[in-house]
Amino acid sequence: MSVELYDTFSRSVQTLSPWSGDKLRFYCCGPTVYGPAHIGNFRTFLIQDTLCRVLKVDGTCVQHVRNITDLDDKTIFQSQAEGKNLSEFTTYWSEKFHSDCAALNMLAPSAEPSAVAHIPQMINLVEKLIEKKHAYATDDGSVYFRVSSYKDYGRLSRLNQRELKTQSSNSAGQVNDADEYDRESVTDFALWKSRKPEDGDNYWPSPWGEGRPGWHLECSAMVHSSFDGETIDLHGGGIDLCFPHHENEIAQSECAHGKEFCKHWFHTAHLMVEGEKMSKSLGNLYTLDDLCAKGFSPMAIRYTLISSSYRQQLNFTFDGLHASQSALSKLERFAQSLLDKTGEASKDFNATYVTAETIKDFGLLAKAWDALRQNLNTAASLGAIFGVIGSNPAASLDAEGARSMLRAFGSLLYALGLELYKTEDKIIDAPADIIALANARWAAKQSKDFNKSDALREELIEKGWVVNDEKDGFNLEYRS
Ligand code: AMP
Ligand code: ZN
Repeated sequence: MSVELYDTFSRSVQTLSPWSGDKLRFYCCGPTVYGPAHIGNFRTFLIQDTLCRVLKVDGTCVQHVRNITDLDDKTIFQSQAEGKNLSEFTTYWSEKFHSDCAALNMLAPSAEPSAVAHIPQMINLVEKLIEKKHAYATDDGSVYFRVSSYKDYGRLSRLNQRELKTQSSNSAGQVNDADEYDRESVTDFALWKSRKPEDGDNYWPSPWGEGRPGWHLECSAMVHSSFDGETIDLHGGGIDLCFPHHENEIAQSECAHGKEFCKHWFHTAHLMVEGEKMSKSLGNLYTLDDLCAKGFSPMAIRYTLISSSYRQQLNFTFDGLHASQSALSKLERFAQSLLDKTGEASKDFNATYVTAETIKDFGLLAKAWDALRQNLNTAASLGAIFGVIGSNPAASLDAEGARSMLRAFGSLLYALGLELYKTEDKIIDAPADIIALANARWAAKQSKDFNKSDALREELIEKGWVVNDEKDGFNLEYRS
């Protein structure tokens, strides 16, 4: 088996496999820790997490490195605005990022290098670039990359020289202000920024005077040191990072080290709100906490953010979140129908079945697995799972058949990072009309009128209530 993924560089779907050795070297540009990550950021991180999970189920060993951007204009500006030192400030937001990741059931990466911890490596990289005439220092003690010295510049984003000159801002929203620094060309970008009063205490000594690294340089240095200087297999980020950030990473790394930087480029399309990218600068964002405070579970948020193709923009809506909650309930009912056959309890389902086990034959669920490994088509995969659920396979399975379907289903849930039967959903007293509906459903079920009991269950779900059957009755859970 193999996993395939669209590669921005070649503009085609390619098989993913380690180009040397037995582990796939995967680097992701991580969060800028100057506030809580929003769910747009998490769309990108969750898609990357889902890919790691799919690779694991496929049997591929992944070395996943995702950095912490704790040193850039935004962390420096915001920490000072709040009167905090940079390290105290970024540690706080890194910890918040980690707790959000855990709530969203994301696997921890193999390593999480921080920019501040790599300044000597960054200085070393700049020295190499100057030595090879790919960079030059200016009178004010800044250093720039000489874009004209690298003939392949623009190959990833396929921008030509003329288009490059008209790009006046980068994807971090930082304006390339040609007047501010003494650059040879408007496309040259800063590797080292000389100390400015607004940097406060955040400056480091260097051969060119006090200052700090440019944002693009940081990832090149962290990639080089995290992967011992090897060419990496895969590099990921939101689509906004393709130009100039990733283009600049390639230029710096290839010019300094004289070897290919990365084989395969993986970009995620944006989470949108009413036609605009969700972003801090536009103020149209939701954080995990915002949505949890409205009663949505982190699992429903994960489901929403991964359920459409990563190459297509996803429009954020509350209807979508409601639909995800009821989709999760359907998945739970499906698992329950199989568990009823094996005589196992739902509380043991995650530990027993949701594993990275490599399944040889996914049986009826094969289409769902194929969709994941063929360019991470999460939408088609979930569609295929619901197709199988619709045919009620449990009805014709014996205990052994149900067990093997549970194993296949569990591996798919692992790959998608979906955990069922989480207990964090709100337990509140059900109002009288809901209790009346639930009693009517129970009576219909007892008299074996399953069409009616199913219809009443759906009606309850639409109202936000999930019925869990027990031996001698039922309980009700509020989900929205
Ligand atoms: P930042 O914390 O701004 O450095 O961004 C972290 C990651 O989130 C990067 O890979 C960005 O490209 C990505 N990102 C930012 N906004 C969005 C969005 N609205 N949808 C998807 N990914 C995003
Ligand atoms: Zn980066």
